[in-house]
Amino acid sequence: MSTQRRPTRAVRIGNIQVGAGAPVAVQSMCATKTRDIDATVAQIAQLQRAGAAVIRIAVDNDKEVEALAEIRRQTDATLAVDLQENYRLAAKVGPHVDKIRYNPGHLHHVERDKSIADKVAWIAACARDSDCAVRIGVNCGSVAPEFLERHPGNQLEAIVQSAAHHCDLMEQLGFERFVVSLKDSDPTKVVAANTRFAEARPQVPLHLGVTEAGMPPDGIIKTRLAFEKLLAQGIGDTIRVSLTLPNDRKHEEVEVGHQILADVEAGRFISVPDFGKGLNIISCPSCSRVENEAFVDLAANVRELTAYAAKHRITIAVMGCRVNGPGETDDADLGLWCGPSTVNLKRKDVKVGSYSYEEVLPRLRDELDRIIEERAA
Ligand code: SF4
Repeated sequence: MSTQRRPTRAVRIGNIQVGAGAPVAVQSMCATKTRDIDATVAQIAQLQRAGAAVIRIAVDNDKEVEALAEIRRQTDATLAVDLQENYRLAAKVGPHVDKIRYNPGHLHHVERDKSIADKVAWIAACARDSDCAVRIGVNCGSVAPEFLERHPGNQLEAIVQSAAHHCDLMEQLGFERFVVSLKDSDPTKVVAANTRFAEARPQVPLHLGVTEAGMPPDGIIKTRLAFEKLLAQGIGDTIRVSLTLPNDRKHEEVEVGHQILADVEAGRFISVPDFGKGLNIISCPSCSRVENEAFVDLAANVRELTAYAAKHRITIAVMGCRVNGPGETDDADLGLWCGPSTVNLKRKDVKVGSYSYEEVLPRLRDELDRIIEERAA
């Protein structure tokens, strides 16, 4: 089977073209500390060998900008940078990368007296000056509050409209060198959001991703369920598979991405009728921001500890840092997000407490048992 790709416009990211029928590019992200230049350059090479076309790095401060400049000197990879709240770093990172990603849901956190439109204009100007593409990366866990207010109880519409609004802002500036992503940890929502967006903005190239898909094999299944449906409809110009993996296995994200593309092209689709009906563990893929390297082990330990509850429809989120941890765990029944020496445990959006990496596991089990008992009653 050969899928007919939807006609989007071409966006150049370094030497890579995305959209307008170009082959779907597989991306990945470094999970090493950006300031550890040797480790990051080595991981870039590891991801390149697996076939990553674009490699993203997290940069949050000036020290990391300095490291990025040196990383740029040591690799020929096509690099993207992930900006979170500190959007003004765009001017400093732009000269060293080929693409800048910003999250519309994070722009309101800083310089509150400045309009979102002005901040987007700044990012577009930085991208133009540095010959960079942009990704407008919308995420269900951090939707811009004004769009949640405009679409109460309809998070899906809020993320689609937030992305469309940022496309408008960019296009009004005459800047069209951007792609959009609409990510969630639930594959059903990823399909719905991207399908709706592709209908509303057929010309905009889409970067597909199921965020915090978690550990293999479940993380791969979740990603496949979303990508298969979208790619088979011709939606998606570039993909990123987000898996919780130790650093020496990070390249598996890229291998899985290529495998999904090959399978969809050949008409091979998976069937998992009971998937998603029981315990759901979501966990982030980790990045430079991860607060403690014990995070990947913690995610694995949570999976092992909670296996006894496999039949219960409960979601547990395990996140690596304070940047996205607090927000991205709000919708889960139980959430854990990592600090440098403690793990914060939440039940929905209410904090239960902070515990050491060892103590948090029995506390998690207590809370899980309590939820199961309450539901049985
Ligand atoms: S939650 Fe934090 S550590 Fe995990 S991928 Fe997101 S930014 Fe990186």
